[in-house]
Amino acid sequence: MVLEGVYKVRSIDEVVELLEKYRENAKIIAGGTDIVIALRNEKITPKVLIDISSIDELKSIKDEGEFIKIGAGVTFTKIVESSLFQKNLWGLYKACRLVGSPQIRNKGTIGGNIANGSSAADSIPPLICLGSTITLASKNGKRKVLLEEYYKDKANYGMKEDELLVSIDFKKPTENRVLSFAKLGLRKALAISRISIATFLELDKKGQVTTIRVASGSLGKYPMRELEVEEFLCGKKLNERTIDEAIKVVQQSMDERLKGRSTLPYKRVAVESMLRESIGDGIKFLDGVRA
Ligand SMILES: Cc1cc2nc3c(=O)[nH]c(=O)nc-3n(C[C@H](O)[C@H](O)[C@H](O)COP(=O)(O)OP(=O)(O)OC[C@H]3O[C@@H](n4cnc5c(N)ncnc54)[C@H](O)[C@@H]3O)c2cc1C
Repeated sequence: MVLEGVYKVRSIDEVVELLEKYRENAKIIAGGTDIVIALRNEKITPKVLIDISSIDELKSIKDEGEFIKIGAGVTFTKIVESSLFQKNLWGLYKACRLVGSPQIRNKGTIGGNIANGSSAADSIPPLICLGSTITLASKNGKRKVLLEEYYKDKANYGMKEDELLVSIDFKKPTENRVLSFAKLGLRKALAISRISIATFLELDKKGQVTTIRVASGSLGKYPMRELEVEEFLCGKKLNERTIDEAIKVVQQSMDERLKGRSTLPYKRVAVESMLRESIGDGIKFLDGVRA
């Protein structure tokens, strides 16, 4: 199919009208860092593109008291520069800071990262750890989906051809909880994450785990919670021994999930340092809070 045109739109209403009209013949373009490659390789051949990069409503980060709302059109650079993602939300800052190059971070959006849905998308494991919800809009109205469910069950929760991802929101963690992130890329610059681990952690006064969420990138078909390791670590004191054992738990889950894949031996080794770094950074932060 030949590309007939590009609609440069200024409102969400305009986007949903066009999506309703063109359905599978339309594709949204935000920063273009993923889709332009797909167009060039003729992986997709839409009739029209809907350019959402001028919709102001999609480009803000809002501190709504109990919640933080990030517009789908917010770039990685904007997240890196926001003061909201320092301190105990530092894991999201780090994930965005490690995306590609300055050019990619300036153009690439968090909504594009989520919608493109690569297993290696850097922003997703931290957002899953935070229990994030995404809001999708169509002519029929809006619906909210838990990000974790969105990837797990695309048939029921995935984005439909007439939907626009509008925003991502999550509850602000209290200061005794921390989000951390570790990533191993193939190259230092422009590395698409080959393995990433995000951890959300809370410890009691004795240093025992009261809350833990662990999410991985590139350890399965999509970014996901590592429920077995969460269950293993909950209630335990974090030390060399328990972290070593936790690594074995993740490796066992991977063995089943990635059975027969040529990358499994490499990923088994790499996950070790990623989990250690992610949990270790979390402990260091909380030690500072408790000191
Ligand atoms: C050199 C290079 C390095 C990269 N490095 C990294 C990296 O380190 N980590 C990483 O995670 N990614 C990386 N990427 C991938 C890419 O930059 C990200 O996935 C980025 O977030 C995509 O956002 P975008 O706005 O450019 O999306 P686009 O390319 O505009 O769109 C991507 C897809 O999402 C859809 N879409 C976009 N916005 C919406 C919306 N609001 N609602 C519905 N659908 C939407 C589009 O239709 C398209 O299918 C890299 C890419 C390149 C080219």
